[in-house]
Amino acid sequence: MAFRMRFWGVRGSIPCPGPDTVRYGGNTACIELRFQPLNRLIIVDAGSGIRALGDQIMKQDLPKGPIKTQIFLTHTHWDHIMGFPFFTPIYIPGTELTIFGPVTYEEDTLDKIVGDQLRYRYFPVRQSELAAKIDYAQLQECEKDLGDGIIMRTKYLNHPILCLGYRFEYQGKVLCTAFDTEPFRNVFDQNKDSPDFDEEAFKEGEIVAKQENEKVLQYFKDADVVIHDTQYTHKEYTAGKIGWGHSTFEYAINAAHKANVKKLFFFHHDPLRRDDELDELIAFYKNKIKGKSALEIEVAREGLTLDI
Ligand SMILES: [Zn+2]
Ligand SMILES: [Zn+2]
Repeated sequence: MAFRMRFWGVRGSIPCPGPDTVRYGGNTACIELRFQPLNRLIIVDAGSGIRALGDQIMKQDLPKGPIKTQIFLTHTHWDHIMGFPFFTPIYIPGTELTIFGPVTYEEDTLDKIVGDQLRYRYFPVRQSELAAKIDYAQLQECEKDLGDGIIMRTKYLNHPILCLGYRFEYQGKVLCTAFDTEPFRNVFDQNKDSPDFDEEAFKEGEIVAKQENEKVLQYFKDADVVIHDTQYTHKEYTAGKIGWGHSTFEYAINAAHKANVKKLFFFHHDPLRRDDELDELIAFYKNKIKGKSALEIEVAREGLTLDI
């Protein structure tokens, strides 16, 4: 085993606790990566799931010494940062935290977007009162050596704001995240009867969309694990959700299969998606790819741990 992954939040958009989400979980995006012999902890996204992770860190890690961790934000939509004020280690002196992430507008810095949640109008504690040492680092598409042999690569995804996929590589094992995202598509008018139709622009749009989708496959290439946005079924997506920035089960399976991925996790479940529906969907898609692909598929569930 090279590292261990655990899901703490698997939902998109908004936390949705209740009888219909008990089994897969109702918290928004948060994933823990533990590089055990190194004692390194990496967190992807600070959705509401990070609260319980923080509690566990307080119990397990704090007695061994000051907490040191890095949080990689895929983007700054609220469902991916809302848990930050409830992440207890930020109130503990000695905690060292670096928060990485992309920003869409230069004037909105990462510390402002994340830290402004800690203002009296929203919350009883201000960012300046936090005991932890917190650094912010803005990221673009890049490759970064995180030290101790951990390599991270980022990939721009297709979402209404700047959003990064993270590829972590350690001891030959690879985990990629791809949320929130939808397939790149031609942004130019496709209707030949439209007065705005521009054949050259349309052709160029087709090429660019194809290239960008190809780059995503390269980014996934041969990964052991891909955690992918599957907020919608193809039917739901084409019935009015195109352009909302989320993917389908069908697209995620297709991309993972083409990129020779070993295991795909369905992630960023729609808040309306009931546990029973997720059971039905995974059974349906498993049956669909049976005998046609070596790809393993599974539904991301809070508490699910995987050694990679
Ligand atoms: Zn989201
Ligand atoms: Zn989003």
